[in-house]
Amino acid sequence: MNLTNFRFETDADGIALATWDMPGRSMNVITPEVMDELARIVDAVAGDAAIKGCVIASGKDNFSGGADLTMLQGLGREYERLKAEQGEEAAMRAFFEESRRLSLLYRKLETSGKPFAAAVAGVCLGGAFELALACHHRILADDDRTRVGLPEIKVGLFPGAGGTQRVARLMQTGDALQMLFKGEQIRPLMARNMGLVHAVAPKDEIVAKAKEWIRAGGSAVAPWDVPKFKAPSGKVYSPAGMMIWPPANAIYRRETHDNYPAAKAILTSVYEGLQLPMDLALKVESRHFARILRTTEAAAMIRTLFISMGELNKGARRPKDVAPTAIRKVGVVGAGFMGAGVAYVSANAGMEVVLIDQSVEAAEKGKAYAHTLVTNQISKGRAKTADRDALLARIHASADYADLKDCDLVIEAVFEDPKVKAEVIGKVEAVIGPDVIFASNTSTLPITGLAKASGRPEQFVGIHFFSPVEKMMLVEIIRGGTTGERAVATALDYVRAIKKTPIVVNDSRGFFANRCVLAYVLEGHKMLLEGVPPAMIEAAGRMAGMPVGPLSLNDEVALDLGLKIARATEAQLGADAVDPGQMKLLTALVETHGRLGRKNKKGFYDYPEGAPKRLWPGLRDLQPARLDPDAVDVEELKHRLLVVQALEAARTVGEGVITDPREADVGSILGFGFAPFTGGALSYIDFMGAKAFVDLAHGLEAKHGPRFGVPDNLLRMAETGGTFYGEAAQQAA
Ligand code: NAD
Repeated sequence: MNLTNFRFETDADGIALATWDMPGRSMNVITPEVMDELARIVDAVAGDAAIKGCVIASGKDNFSGGADLTMLQGLGREYERLKAEQGEEAAMRAFFEESRRLSLLYRKLETSGKPFAAAVAGVCLGGAFELALACHHRILADDDRTRVGLPEIKVGLFPGAGGTQRVARLMQTGDALQMLFKGEQIRPLMARNMGLVHAVAPKDEIVAKAKEWIRAGGSAVAPWDVPKFKAPSGKVYSPAGMMIWPPANAIYRRETHDNYPAAKAILTSVYEGLQLPMDLALKVESRHFARILRTTEAAAMIRTLFISMGELNKGARRPKDVAPTAIRKVGVVGAGFMGAGVAYVSANAGMEVVLIDQSVEAAEKGKAYAHTLVTNQISKGRAKTADRDALLARIHASADYADLKDCDLVIEAVFEDPKVKAEVIGKVEAVIGPDVIFASNTSTLPITGLAKASGRPEQFVGIHFFSPVEKMMLVEIIRGGTTGERAVATALDYVRAIKKTPIVVNDSRGFFANRCVLAYVLEGHKMLLEGVPPAMIEAAGRMAGMPVGPLSLNDEVALDLGLKIARATEAQLGADAVDPGQMKLLTALVETHGRLGRKNKKGFYDYPEGAPKRLWPGLRDLQPARLDPDAVDVEELKHRLLVVQALEAARTVGEGVITDPREADVGSILGFGFAPFTGGALSYIDFMGAKAFVDLAHGLEAKHGPRFGVPDNLLRMAETGGTFYGEAAQQAA
């Protein structure tokens, strides 16, 4: 057989081994060519009486990451072309057939009459795990790298090559729905306990064990094709089914607020599919899949969370002419909340860390944070004691700046005070090498201003982490007025090494993410002052797709910090730059009531010990007016909360703070959880259409004031029918 992406050989016992190993790629992915070759393999195995069965394995470190999502994007373009040429019905028919090719291929494998076994080592996700699920036997390597799962939901899709049907026939319906909704990567033993795979074995034995299974007469009939097959949870229309489906519906609503069509499609595919024999069930799944593939949500999420994020992670914004830097040793000055986190993520990436504070005790306290974090990992079985010892040995806690002398990069995270920062910059530059890059983690002080304290301002850059550092995947790299290309490149190399996602932002007050976040929080405060019930504000935030309501978010960040920022802004930019109502509200909360947020267990919420947080009843007394909840338009609240952030994002583009729409979109989702189904703050506008968005903003401006004013760049776009991505592509051309 003439194959490019697989090696195919049959041993003396008549057992075939198809080794998936795509040339010129580090990872196997499903492409049309792979589908063609797999179909030929199935035909060859089924058609040759001398072949008893077939093992599918990978020739690479990983099994496969699944379908090539750019191929799915191509399907959409083909649909548009056909629609223009032959009309919608013909286009949809072709699209449906094409989008279910993989599903049909897997079913062909499953019903070929010959046993197939998947021997999986490394990552096996999405369409690749659906291939394994269609095999009659699955065996996983028991190593640390092996993971299986169906993460499609994370990019607005769902497993459309039989995944929803096979998983729902392998385990209890509630567990199956959870697995499909969460899209998590599952470790080998867990996968076996869940019933997803049959066996776990040492990596170098999986192929032999899979062959053994075939040799011993492994069945070529899937459990669900055996007459009288019963699904683990029984029938949908049964007393047991009635215990599952009403709560499943409620959980779906609670978790998604109906914003994710793919999640609903999972629910319907499983619900409808479980009532049908497998072939029909797969057809139902395919119908939903074809529909979901064409949703705005899938297009937006694939673009931002898969394609753009991948590009940014691979250095799309890195200055090309600068040679890569390997950061071996990093200095972190300030071992407080942020510095301790930065030290941990750096040491976790294998770097040596010098962690400096005003006293050795303070520095040691910062180092102890790393101890706590790894200990938590150990208790979850995700790390070993030896990992903790090795990681801690890489962090040197000190109060002596001279210890920074051979660092390749220094990051400061001292108090947010220009005088303290200036002193630290001077002390650090006195000991580090002349070429070393200095980065500040400031969250509010413009980098251009701080760089004035530096003797080498072209080597001065912002590396802005979000808290908690170990969890938040976004890092803003701030290019100050004097920052040079080498500083930006080094910062990007560092962020890549610690496996976070960077965006490069030009200097501005609040940079990018915090500007949008502040707009969101302010909108929550405005609603409170208008008299909207606080619970309604919070619910509207979550219904709009934000991870938490604006008042919760403010509690997390700390109310006194909000007040401090508002006062600093007023001092520097004048009284017009702050909202007087907000100032009054925060002053009352912080200074009259001593409510600082979650950190002192008193903010917009109370945080009782051992019980869920609840809104502070005293908020009612801070509301000058109170609206009748039935008279409040919830849709308008939702719009306000997203539009106000998207407008701020559009302004950052107009001002040249953001120069690439991918960064605003990825940054808004990773940095502050901007409704992921929209694809991010700019995609929200682009997919709605600039004209429709501007009309919406104008309506809100007329009712709620100038913070909904539309910046010129967006007005122009509404007139020309342009998009942020379209304009960026034009500029790049
Ligand atoms: P923090 O108060 O927890 O820590 C500051 C640390 O710096 C303290 O341990 C202090 O002892 C040390 N320090 C002060 N002066 C020093 C000096 N001269 N030499 C050595 N160490 C010194 O503050 P934090 O929350 O970690 O914030 C640190 C920086 O990070 C600030 O610039 C802040 O704006 C920024 N930041 C904070 C957050 C956040 O959510 N807290 C997020 C992003 C950025």
